[in-house]
Amino acid sequence: MSDKPHQNLAIIGHVDHGKSTLVGRLLFETGSVPDHVIEQYREEAESKGKSGFEFAYVMDNLAEERERGVTIDIAHQRFDTDKYYFTIVDTPGHRDFVKNMITGASQADHAVLVVAADDGVAPQTREHVFLARTLGIDELIVAVNKMDVVDYSESDYKAVVSEVKELLGQVRFDTDDARFIPISAFEGDNVAEPSEHMSWFDGPTILEALNDLPEPQPPTDAPLRVPIQDVYTISGIGTVPVGRVETGMLKNGMDVVFNPSGARGEVKTIEMHHEEVDQAGPGDNVGFNVRGVGKDDIRRGDVAGEASNPPRIAETFKAQIVVMQHPSVITAGYTPVLHAHTAQVAVTFETIDAKLDPKTGEVAEENPDFIKSGDAAIVTLRPQKPLSIEVAGEIPELGSFAVRDMGQTIAAGKVLEITDRE
Ligand code: GDP
Repeated sequence: MSDKPHQNLAIIGHVDHGKSTLVGRLLFETGSVPDHVIEQYREEAESKGKSGFEFAYVMDNLAEERERGVTIDIAHQRFDTDKYYFTIVDTPGHRDFVKNMITGASQADHAVLVVAADDGVAPQTREHVFLARTLGIDELIVAVNKMDVVDYSESDYKAVVSEVKELLGQVRFDTDDARFIPISAFEGDNVAEPSEHMSWFDGPTILEALNDLPEPQPPTDAPLRVPIQDVYTISGIGTVPVGRVETGMLKNGMDVVFNPSGARGEVKTIEMHHEEVDQAGPGDNVGFNVRGVGKDDIRRGDVAGEASNPPRIAETFKAQIVVMQHPSVITAGYTPVLHAHTAQVAVTFETIDAKLDPKTGEVAEENPDFIKSGDAAIVTLRPQKPLSIEVAGEIPELGSFAVRDMGQTIAAGKVLEITDRE
């Protein structure tokens, strides 16, 4: 383990704009591809009379892994800068990216938006920017990629930058906080090394911009919330719920409650990486044992919190959503499946309260009859079974969700207001 602070990084952008290539380049340039793998590529390249093509081999290999559906691809790869170590979280294009990003499996601290210089803003550029905004990412690095394809033209770069700025403005991203960098992920320009082809650009490389990102502040002072992933029975210990501490501190001796199940008791032991610890904080994966709580009292989807500040249980809740893809229209009564943290619950769209103007975020239409792909809206949802969820403004880590149907992510949202269950 590195003792540098950790950052979860999402690489977002339209398909084929160069996300995997950029990740491959970052891994390669930071020495994060194991030596023996590089050596193997070098030998292969040489035997084919293509020495110097190690990078291309890294990429080919990633592509091949992807085709075979093997998961040692770019997700969850690691690399270091001087200041941080980064984990690449699931990458769009992966089937469950949106869901994973929302349910916390791969919540990103920051994102790099890749936009191809020869294509500009495309549908998924838009979708991912909306999503990043909904999920509370507020600092973006915008990589204008494939600059080699446009002959490193400054005017082409500027045209794409202004298109992206307009998009960011629509979702009220502060463009002063975004860094724009012209790159060629394939040739390596401005990724780790300043480009020799773009003397007109005097900004940072991608690696420098990553290194300059603000350090994420772990939410240790927030109320304790541990979504439960599994519940085990371990001989000699008893029932052991496991999960990741999202917010707050879990401590020995603390009185905790699991909601919505309602089981409660005192924390007896906490285990992390096979060692007993006295406490655990945000990001820690733990197994813990609670006095008097048996295997059948709790389940996946429960959230553990301190008994004095218990996880909320929603009767209904109001949310702001973005409809990402739906074959037709969504009307009141629609009942897909909601995914939030580790919970999955059928949820009914009780009312569609307002459609929002994506440009301003203001209400464009009260009580519309329906919403469709691309719309942003305020809706009231009713879980069909008890669900613990939080207001995003209070505990953002537990306040966002994905709506899925027919194997697809239909919408992403964040909770604005909760009516608690009695
Ligand atoms: P993704 O779908 O966003 O992950 O895109 P890929 O990384 O798979 O890239 C799509 C295609 O664009 C591949 O054929 C890459 O070789 C090519 N590509 C990516 N980056 C560059 C670049 O900087 N320059 C050029 N010329 N091609 C690139």
